[in-house]
Amino acid sequence: MGDISICKTGRAGRITLQRPKALNALTYQMCLDIDAALIAWREDADVDLIVIDAEGEKAFCAGGDIAEMYETGTKGDYDYGRKFWFDEYRMNNRLHEYPKPVVSFLQGFTMGGGVGVGCHGSHRIAGETSQIAMPEVGIGLVPDVGGTYILARAPGRLGEYLGTTAARMTAGDAIAVGFADHFIPEAEWPALIEALEETGDIMVLEQAVQPAPDSPLMAQLDDINRHFGGESLGDILNSLEADGGAFAMDAIKRLSRNAPLSMACTVEMIHRLRGPSLTLRKALDMEYRFTYRSMEHGDFLEGIRAQIIDKDRNPQWQHPLHKVPAVAVSKMLIPLGKNAVTFDEEESMKIGFIGLGNMGGPMAANLAKAGYTVAGFDTAGVSIEGVTNAASSAEAAKDADVVITMLPNGAILRAVAHEIIEAMKPGAVFLDCSTVDVESARDVAADAAKHSLMALDAPVSGGVGGATNGTLTFMVGGSSKGFEIAKPLFDVMGQKAVHCGPSGNGQAAKICNNMILGITMIGTCEAFALADKLGLDRQAMFDVVSTSSGYSWTMNAYCPAPGVGPQSPADNDYKPGFAAELMLKDLRLSQQAAEAADADTPMGQAATALYEQFVDNEDGLGMDFSAMLPRFEKRGRG
Ligand code: NAD
Repeated sequence: MGDISICKTGRAGRITLQRPKALNALTYQMCLDIDAALIAWREDADVDLIVIDAEGEKAFCAGGDIAEMYETGTKGDYDYGRKFWFDEYRMNNRLHEYPKPVVSFLQGFTMGGGVGVGCHGSHRIAGETSQIAMPEVGIGLVPDVGGTYILARAPGRLGEYLGTTAARMTAGDAIAVGFADHFIPEAEWPALIEALEETGDIMVLEQAVQPAPDSPLMAQLDDINRHFGGESLGDILNSLEADGGAFAMDAIKRLSRNAPLSMACTVEMIHRLRGPSLTLRKALDMEYRFTYRSMEHGDFLEGIRAQIIDKDRNPQWQHPLHKVPAVAVSKMLIPLGKNAVTFDEEESMKIGFIGLGNMGGPMAANLAKAGYTVAGFDTAGVSIEGVTNAASSAEAAKDADVVITMLPNGAILRAVAHEIIEAMKPGAVFLDCSTVDVESARDVAADAAKHSLMALDAPVSGGVGGATNGTLTFMVGGSSKGFEIAKPLFDVMGQKAVHCGPSGNGQAAKICNNMILGITMIGTCEAFALADKLGLDRQAMFDVVSTSSGYSWTMNAYCPAPGVGPQSPADNDYKPGFAAELMLKDLRLSQQAAEAADADTPMGQAATALYEQFVDNEDGLGMDFSAMLPRFEKRGRG
C-alpha cells in the first residue's frame, strides 16, 4: 500500500491519504501527487468533483512529515525544506481556486499540513471526532499552508488566539471559526462518499448536513477579544498577566510553551493580512517569507529537536517570551523578491468583464488584484487598472472561463447576451451581476443553456462601497455546478454569496429585498416627519426606535435624518449613496414580477408610486433615496 491512493471512481476524483500509522502525515511526494491529480482532473470532463478523505480513525492528517527537513536542515541544506513548502503551498492554493467542488472529510486530528489539504476546498466536512489546530508555533514555525488566511478572517481576535496558543478546535468550533463548513455524523460518511462518486452531484451533501454543534471556543470570545486585540505579542501577554483569571492563566500557560519569535510573527502576519482584499495567495506569500527563513534565522530546527527528535520538550528559543525585538519580526517578514512563492497562471480562471461602471469597475479591479486575468469592455471606453481592454463584448468573452456582466438594465443585458453567447466557449459560465427583471434573467439563462453554457444571475447588495472594498453580498440563481465554479470569484468580490435556487431566483431575492428597503425607507421618513410635527426631537426618536420594535436598517444604519445616527447620505446633502431613481428601478421590477406572478403587494405598489412621483415630479432625480424625508417635511396631509 502506498502513502496515498489517487483514482477516478464514478464521477469523482478520489484522493485518500493512507498512512494511518503516521497519522497520515503529509510527505513531500504526497503533496506532489495531490497536485498532479488536481492538474489532470481540472479539464477532465469525467470528473465532476473531488473527494479527499483519509484512512484510520485517529487522524485525517496530523501535519507535514518534517523528519527529512530536519535532517537536511541541520546539515545546513535549506533547499529541501524550501522546495517542500513552495510546492505544498502551490497545491494548497490550487485546492482553494479549484473550478470544481472539493469535498474533504476531516475525522480526528487535522493539523498543520492537514489543514492545507483539508481546509481549502469548497466543502469541508467535520464530524464528532474532529480536532483541528494550527500548532506550528510549538516547533518554531508560524501557521502556514494558508492557515493565516483562515485565521485572519475568523471572528474577532480568534485568529490571534488560535495561531499563538495552538488551541484545538472541535467540529462546532471549526465551523464557527471558518476551518470547516458542515457537520455530518461520521457513520454517514462512507455512504455519502459513495453517493458523491455515483452522481457527481454536490447537492447530495445538503441532505446529510446536520446543525453545527455548539462551539465552546465561541463562548470564550469576549475573553479572547479582550486580551488578544493588542498590537503585538507583548501587548497580549501584558493584558493576560494583568488579568490573572482562569482564562488568562490557561492562555499564558499555552503561550509559554511556544516559540516567542514565531508567536510575535503570527500576530504581525494576521494584522497585516486582515482586511477585505485578503486572498489565499497573499497569505501563502506572507507565510513563505517566514518558512523560507525559518531554518536559518528562526527557531524551527530547535523546535523539531525538542519536540520530535530528542523529545526533551525543553526548547532553547532565541528570544525570551517578553523580549522579541520588533526588528527580528520585520526581518522574518521582509518580501523575498525573486525567491517568493509563485502560482501557475494557468490555474487562475480567465475572466471577461462587461460593464465597467460604478459597480463593475471596482469589481473587475479586485479580480485583477487577486491575480485573475481579466479582459474588460465598456461602451464608454473605460479603462481599469490591471484589466486589459477588449475591442468588443464578444472579444472580452471569447476565451473566458467566466464572463461577468454588470449592466444598467434587462434590455441591455439581453442585447449583450445576444452578442456574447455565440462567442463564449462551451462549458463557460455566464455570470450576470446586474439588477434586472426575473424574466430577462431566465430568458438569458435558457439561451445560454442552448449553447452549452452555464448561466447564473447574481445581483448584489452593498453598493459602490461594497464593490470597492470587496464586501458585496451576492444572491445567486442557477445551477449548483455553476455556483461552485464562480464561488472563488464571489469570495474575491464579496463577503457572502447565497445560492437561492434555479435561474432567476437571485433576481427574485434582490427584488424582494429592495422592495422591503423602499417600503421601510418611506416608513422611516414619514415617521420622522410626523415626529417633527408632534414636537418630538429627532435624536430622541432615533434613540427610542433604533432599540425598539420599529428598528430597521434604514433607521439604524442609513438614518435619513441629518446629524442623527451613523454617517449617511443625509449628512452629505442627500447626495447618493443609492440614488432614488435606482430604487425606483428596483421597485418597478418588483411590481413587474408581482404582476407576472399574480402576487398582491399593496405596500410595494404604494412605494413605487411615491418614488415615481418623487423622481419624475419632485426633484428626486439624482438625490439619495433617503431624501424622501425632506420631501415629507415640506408637506401637509392634503
Ligand atoms: P453604471 O451606469 O455606473 O455602469 C453601467 C456600465 O455599463 C456603464 O459604464 C455603461 O457604459 C456600461 N454599458 C452600458 N451598455 C453597455 C453595453 N452594451 N456594453 C458594454 N457596456 C455597457 O451603473 P452601476 O451603478 O455600475 O450599476 C450596474 C448594475 O448594478 C445595475 O443593474 C444596478 O442596478 C446594479 N446595482 C447598483 C448599485 C449601486 O449602488 N450603484 C448597487 C447594487 C446593484
